[in-house]
Amino acid sequence: MLSYQTTASQRIFTFLGLFGILLLFASGIGESLSISSNVLTSSALAIIGLAIFGYTYASYAPYHSGIKNNANVLKSLTQRGVWAYVSALVLTAFYVVLYFFDAYLEPMIRGFDFISQSLSGKPATQWFVYGVLYTLAILLFGVKFIVKYRHSRYQVIRTLSVMFFQLIFAFLLPEFMARLNGDLPYYDLKSMWPLNYYLFDGYYIESFVSAQTLGIGLLIFGVLSIFVISPILTYKFGKRWYCSWVCGCGGLAETAGDAFRHLSDNSIRAWKLERWMIHSILVLITLSTVGVVHSYLLEHPEEYWLSPSVFILSVVSLLVAVVGLIYFKRRAWIAKDAKTAMIIVGALLAGFTGMHFLSDTYHVFLIPSHSLRSVYGFFVGSIFSGVIGTGFYPLLGNRVWCRFGCPMAAILGIQQKLFSKFQITTNSGQCISCGNCSAYCEMGIDVRAYAQKAEPIKRASCVGCGICAEVCPRGVLRLENTSNPNQQA
Ligand code: SF4
Ligand code: SF4
Repeated sequence: MLSYQTTASQRIFTFLGLFGILLLFASGIGESLSISSNVLTSSALAIIGLAIFGYTYASYAPYHSGIKNNANVLKSLTQRGVWAYVSALVLTAFYVVLYFFDAYLEPMIRGFDFISQSLSGKPATQWFVYGVLYTLAILLFGVKFIVKYRHSRYQVIRTLSVMFFQLIFAFLLPEFMARLNGDLPYYDLKSMWPLNYYLFDGYYIESFVSAQTLGIGLLIFGVLSIFVISPILTYKFGKRWYCSWVCGCGGLAETAGDAFRHLSDNSIRAWKLERWMIHSILVLITLSTVGVVHSYLLEHPEEYWLSPSVFILSVVSLLVAVVGLIYFKRRAWIAKDAKTAMIIVGALLAGFTGMHFLSDTYHVFLIPSHSLRSVYGFFVGSIFSGVIGTGFYPLLGNRVWCRFGCPMAAILGIQQKLFSKFQITTNSGQCISCGNCSAYCEMGIDVRAYAQKAEPIKRASCVGCGICAEVCPRGVLRLENTSNPNQQA
């Protein structure tokens, strides 16, 4: 039987990393050992960093640059062996405690107070600790990814980009803004609605409004991001500008999740499930967000110039305009996916119409909109995106959430499929059908099938990570922004 031996240095750095993680969880008991928890937390983070850098050096530095997925299909951790299940269990347990039993993390959280105080002037919360660990994971594994793909300019630049956006936009700026204006809610500037599903909740809007100019500016920026900035960038570059260059979920998947990308299921069955799941979640978040804003306007009739009915009619008009545009410009696509499109639009229109004609209620399909929103927050926002989306990397691959759950990816995917210059071109004459591209596509796309037919790849789910092109031994695949966005796959 084939086996894979890690080198002695890799083993030493792995144990060092595990020791650092244990030390981090033990940092809260530092005071009882007469050791400052600041010292223990800083030491634990430094040890974890050293372990990842050391492992990276031992794995890649002695060799020439080039693709190295050596023995990925033989290692227990990356081929659903015992270590994969143990890791998934530990990660999932961490998420469950973080979301639902944070009191158990209290001693560890206090160990992060000194970092939080120095940034925002406030004591640390469990979300601050999560933010530090999440950002560190992207930065440290980002360095590992850059060293691994150092021969590829595209991979190096896009990884620097996700590291920058996570560190500055998602972590440092919100902390500094909280120091500047205590009324401001936490706001990750790059996290747009519907990924940031609470952006239009009543308490969020009130916090923005009470933070005056800065808050209102951020609210306007949030609306512009989804309706103006994102469509323009997706038209020019495809959804990769967000999913592979900016987004924190994508950033973690690309860096910490790199070793698991081959675990994505690329069967037709998985593709069908993906399309139903991601579009159902898009419908659910759209209905619940409109319902929550509608209810908020009903509850505050005197405070805003926008009445609940005008709001609903505006949303319906926008939806009709978008569907009309798609129908006239991309009729062929609608014909192919007519059933799905009709169900999506029908469910949305029925929900909006119900809200309008029963406008003295707070319900969406007889469910109170706040309850619908809470159900979404619990099952999709917490369980799916956090517990399953990250905890299950070693079992289901690194893009489970992006592929099956993220409503932002669904919107960007529809734009990419219908109105974008981005596509992957193929040169079938060179293809030797090795299947590397399909095996390493983290979104489960059967890239080889397109390459064999010499068809350009213009799939809604493609995040433009470019790994298919990197692992192709024959240079068959090219990521391009064509001048002809009408070309359909
Ligand atoms: S098709 Fe290629 S670029 Fe697109 S998601 Fe798959 S591996 Fe990444
Ligand atoms: S990796 Fe390249 S050569 Fe291999 S199947 Fe894919 S396109 Fe063809």
